[in-house]
Amino acid sequence: MLYKRCSGCGKRIPSNIVCECQVNNARKRYKEYYKNRRSDREQQAFYRSKEWLRCRQLRVTTLLGIDWYEYYVNNKLVQGYTLHHIEELKECEERALDTSNLIYLTQANHIKIHKEYAKSFKDKKRMQNILFKCLEKAKDEFGIG
Ligand SMILES: [Zn+2]
Ligand SMILES: [Zn+2]
Repeated sequence: MLYKRCSGCGKRIPSNIVCECQVNNARKRYKEYYKNRRSDREQQAFYRSKEWLRCRQLRVTTLLGIDWYEYYVNNKLVQGYTLHHIEELKECEERALDTSNLIYLTQANHIKIHKEYAKSFKDKKRMQNILFKCLEKAKDEFGIG
């Protein structure tokens, strides 16, 4: 009988056989895919919900539509565009509608901040601290929030 080495696990197996690990990997990938797809759908439903739309409107009004991160980091007063969950929806559902977890950001800052989040756990925590600090300052200095 001819043998081959499985490219996945390196086991020696008959050449006409598909290694079990390939099937297991496929199953794992599918499960992962399915899980992500489901949570994407749940997120989309959340962003369309009445509770969220009401919360969003209130929060943006309270913040005067200003991106307070831009104000404290770059000293510029600009209008926000996206209301961002500092502690992300997927990591902290309890804070989904907690206004103290919501900051209004320009599109550019929103992208920049999500890039920081994606770098590492430490970078994410650091950035979240900066964002909470900005909101704290807006409260201290202008009574906003
Ligand atoms: Zn294998
Ligand atoms: Zn965001």
